[in-house]
Amino acid sequence: MTISNIFPQLEIPNTLAAGPGPGNTDARVLARFASAGIADHMHDTVLRGMAECKFMLRDLFGTKNTYTFGVAGTGWSGLDCMFSAVMPGDTVVAFSNGTFSGIDALTLRMKAATRGELAKDSLNPQAASVTVIEVPHGQSVTGEMVETALKKHKPKWAFMAHWETGSGRINDIQGFSDACLKHNSMGLVDAVSSLGVEDFKIDNFEGVAAWASCPQKGVMCLPLTYAPVSFTDQYIDVLKANGSYTYCHHPIMEARHWGIVDGKDVEKGGYHRTHSGYAVAAFHEALRITLQYGLTQKANDYVFHENALRQAVVSMGCDVTSNMTSLLVLNLPGNLAGREMELVQACRAENFGIWPTLSSPVQVRIGILNQLTQSAITDIINRFAIAMNKMGAGIDIESINSNLETYYNKAIAAE
Ligand SMILES: *Cc1c(COP(=O)(O)O)cnc(C)c1O
Repeated sequence: MTISNIFPQLEIPNTLAAGPGPGNTDARVLARFASAGIADHMHDTVLRGMAECKFMLRDLFGTKNTYTFGVAGTGWSGLDCMFSAVMPGDTVVAFSNGTFSGIDALTLRMKAATRGELAKDSLNPQAASVTVIEVPHGQSVTGEMVETALKKHKPKWAFMAHWETGSGRINDIQGFSDACLKHNSMGLVDAVSSLGVEDFKIDNFEGVAAWASCPQKGVMCLPLTYAPVSFTDQYIDVLKANGSYTYCHHPIMEARHWGIVDGKDVEKGGYHRTHSGYAVAAFHEALRITLQYGLTQKANDYVFHENALRQAVVSMGCDVTSNMTSLLVLNLPGNLAGREMELVQACRAENFGIWPTLSSPVQVRIGILNQLTQSAITDIINRFAIAMNKMGAGIDIESINSNLETYYNKAIAAE
């Protein structure tokens, strides 16, 4: 008998991605990924593609920051690059109001910890120079909270997530930026969930020195591509003066491959690491799609379709506690309370990919990334209602659907 570890080809099924992210990648993006013809990362066309991505990213972010580019990998890759200027002993105030900003705060504690602090508890260091303001799950970070904390601590760096995907809450970016300016702190923002979903221009938030996002949420480019980042010249000056303990995620060094050298655009990027022509082609197409759609239009469409979904689940008796426009976070009605995880698992078993919250209390998360059509929203609502009825909710699905149709018909009539 021979033992072989060659498995059959992996067939991953089609699912309806209706969670906080990743969203379903656009077919146009997958087609570009699969049809790129070269693996050579220094080929002229690949370098030109990267430069074009850089220019499109500046439009998407709404910025004149020269240091705007993509970091290969996922959201955490971009965030790691953004946090790279934070050095041991640096003073930081970080606002945590959910799963993701909690991990961001952990990253900051790792970066700012002294060697002694890191050695004491290396996976969860308590850095004396980092203050984490814990805001309860389900609440937003307000401008007053930021103002109070920065006034008291006057940190070198301040951190906040723009949209906290763990609980679906939008935090006050204007208040954050204003407090950073007032108290001379450099703002760092996790914009993983907001970029490509909300219509905002980062240059309007002068207190924020650096932004990081991800490929697979608002930007719609999962096939492991690029996490968009953007840095002000002030951040780059501070980084240059103090250094960073990374080569790979060093913003100045990484930017060179995107054709950014000494604060200026140059025609051709130079080697930093091996980039994938497939990823560049896919990312390029994803940016083209978003810019062709138009950020204002897209943001309005998210508001419109989230509202349709929200009205439907509220009429099913659910209690919505989020205010993001790409994601609903909700509690089930009283008679099903406490069975959130069971419902999510039943849906996922049928390839209807909704999510639970990752930190307690367990709530249901339903997202609409790249699902901006009446038919997609109707499909999501029907699958959800059927799953609830299997648990005994007794929802009148016909009346939900007729309300939904009225909502969409009204919009069509108004056009
Ligand atoms: C999804 C998410 C992340 C992590 O992104 P990955 O792509 O999983 O690395 C970080 N922050 C926020 C706010 C997110 O929504």
